[in-house]
Amino acid sequence: MLKLKEWFLDERRELPWREERTPYRVWISEVMLQQTQVVVVIPYFLRWMERFPTVQALAKAPLEAVIKAWEGLGYYSRARNLHRAAQQISLDFGGVIPSERHHLEQLAGFGPYTVGAMLSFAFQQKAPAVDGNVVRVLSRFFGSDKWASDRKHYEALTLSLLPEEQPWVMMEGLIELGALVCQRKPKCDVCPLRQDCVSYRDGTALSFPKKKKPPVTIFLKRQVAVICWEDEVLVKREGEGKVMADLYEFPYAALDEPLPVNLPLEKIQEFPLVKQGFTRYNATLYPTLYQATEKREVEGFEWKKKDELFHLPFSSGHKRILNENITH
Ligand code: SF4
Repeated sequence: MLKLKEWFLDERRELPWREERTPYRVWISEVMLQQTQVVVVIPYFLRWMERFPTVQALAKAPLEAVIKAWEGLGYYSRARNLHRAAQQISLDFGGVIPSERHHLEQLAGFGPYTVGAMLSFAFQQKAPAVDGNVVRVLSRFFGSDKWASDRKHYEALTLSLLPEEQPWVMMEGLIELGALVCQRKPKCDVCPLRQDCVSYRDGTALSFPKKKKPPVTIFLKRQVAVICWEDEVLVKREGEGKVMADLYEFPYAALDEPLPVNLPLEKIQEFPLVKQGFTRYNATLYPTLYQATEKREVEGFEWKKKDELFHLPFSSGHKRILNENITH
């Protein structure tokens, strides 16, 4: 493990959030990086820092602007929690991100990984930040039969490996090694841990970490109706608790069910189908353009000016339907 620190100091990637390491920048980058690749995160992070440069700026921003800045990163609860936590930090901690574990744990969206990452990278404390990378490296290095989901086990193991001196360097090194070398298909030839790695010795790296079966993917087929009345279009903002909460969508229904709108419609044209993946769903969207022959209010929906649509946060599939088929 000692060689890991050396390796990390030589090989670590230059990333915008490593240049100027403030607690706010660590927080935003760590949340963005959950479930999302580094190359995707970089432009979002840079734009975010321009748009919301401080905790206070984030706390004061309208939720819709925050969701809009997150548009395309997926798992929107992360954006809502960032906004809520920024307001908590402003109200309860005078706008300063707290450096104690029990305070961080009170903040919206601060799960065990985010708390560990903040303590380690933002406040340079000895704390485990265990993500999928760390689990992969350690399970292979020790040839561990523990489930990948056994967070307590991997946190305790990580903590036992962190040195007293600059523990955050080793912590980040473990994550970086998982991201760059001990990937799903490990590059053992260039790994600094190879000499002592149990699964390298046994040729069993691909059997680790041990994982329980993932949830079954659900395939959906949906018709999506882009309904226009003069220069207005009918959309719905999904409510809290829904998968697409706070995002706008056009009316939709399963292919064999009626649309949830009681309007006289004239079909204008079919648009190309769109594939959309979210959480454990895999949806195929069949969009069609309709003209309403009479304008009525539709419960749960709102008429928005066509130009306005391009400034609203949409779910990724419906955004593609909008961008690829509707002109400003
Ligand atoms: S030697 Fe291979 S399996 Fe072991 S930690 Fe390194 S990359 Fe992973």
